[in-house]
Amino acid sequence: MIKVGITGGIGSGKTTVCNIFKTLNVPVYNADLEARELTNTHPNIIKSISKIFGKDIYIEGILDRKKVGSMVFTNSDLLTKLNRIIHPVVAWHFKEWLTLHQHHKYIIKEAAVLFESGGNKTLDKIITVSAPENLRINRVMHRDKLTEEEVRSRMGKQMLDEEKIRMSDYVLYCNDIDLLIPQVLLLHKKITI
Ligand code: ATP
Repeated sequence: MIKVGITGGIGSGKTTVCNIFKTLNVPVYNADLEARELTNTHPNIIKSISKIFGKDIYIEGILDRKKVGSMVFTNSDLLTKLNRIIHPVVAWHFKEWLTLHQHHKYIIKEAAVLFESGGNKTLDKIITVSAPENLRINRVMHRDKLTEEEVRSRMGKQMLDEEKIRMSDYVLYCNDIDLLIPQVLLLHKKITI
């Protein structure tokens, strides 16, 4: 089985691309969504996070991500600790998921941070989804009801597109000019040959 990673900056179109792959019966593991879910449900994670951030960091069983975000923003040690709690559990969960889908020719793991987390090392091929910065800003402002400044601040923490593309095997251009579906179909063919 070939393990393909899909990455790209905020608003680049990762999820949109993955939805097209899903229509081709390719299983997709959304690492960010799964991490979010496990953070609210996995007993070891809940226990460890509550120990570090206090019991009231969970409100009715849901992690107060805004509060955690503001606490780790100014404390990199705390961020390291948080990652050390969550990442091994997500890695284990992904492994289990792989076993369930082992009969597929290839699977996709979607993650906003792949190179930054070293997640690329466990995958066979990497696709970067690329889109112009101004388009990404407009998309995310519209989708998440954020100001330009808020989107730019999120983007500022991510690796540049050019750098990601340099380290990738394939690029998909998700912009207003290039048609996306034909690009995905071509790539699907390349991967399955
Ligand atoms: P994030 O990292 O923030 O989760 P993402 O890379 O997964 O973002 P998407 O959620 O797929 O990006 O796309 C961001 C927004 O842009 C969505 O509202 C989506 O519908 C829209 N969008 C994506 N691709 C296109 C496109 N080719 N044409 C028009 N709108 C698009």
